[in-house]
Amino acid sequence: MIRRLLALLLAPLLLVGCIPVIVSERPCASNGDCPYAQYGFTDGWSNGAVDLKGFYWQPTREIVVPPGTGYAIIIHEACHAWQGWTCPGDDIYLLCWLDTPAGLAFPRMPAPWVMLDLDGNALAGDTLIEDAARTCAAYVLEPEGLRALDPARYEWAREYIR
Ligand SMILES: [Zn+2]
Repeated sequence: MIRRLLALLLAPLLLVGCIPVIVSERPCASNGDCPYAQYGFTDGWSNGAVDLKGFYWQPTREIVVPPGTGYAIIIHEACHAWQGWTCPGDDIYLLCWLDTPAGLAFPRMPAPWVMLDLDGNALAGDTLIEDAARTCAAYVLEPEGLRALDPARYEWAREYIR
């Protein structure tokens, strides 16, 4: 119930921020960029080893997902869009977000944080950008779970995720 409520709360962000969500058989943005082509995602969303679940593409400010994607992945990508709003230009890695108040305040942990894989999107070796997006998605999807597991991250999310 709460999860649905929070998902509904995030939905207006998608609308207000006018983030297009492209549902496509191919992992390509509307401008023709196919950023994961080098991994072999040319005809679909799997290269046999990895199933790419979706991505946020800063140059076009859009979310691209395969057909049938659930809202958990879309919320994760919307969290990247939230990061991207603070970044001018086309930095596809969203690194400038790390210098924002939210990025600077993000509670770092010594190892890649993949404990709370609520969106099924965790990978070993995730970056701080991914870590923060996952925390953001966890806050939207399972705020009480996030608070129980990591109060510091919960407090961070409560302050910065708007
Ligand atoms: Zn991500």
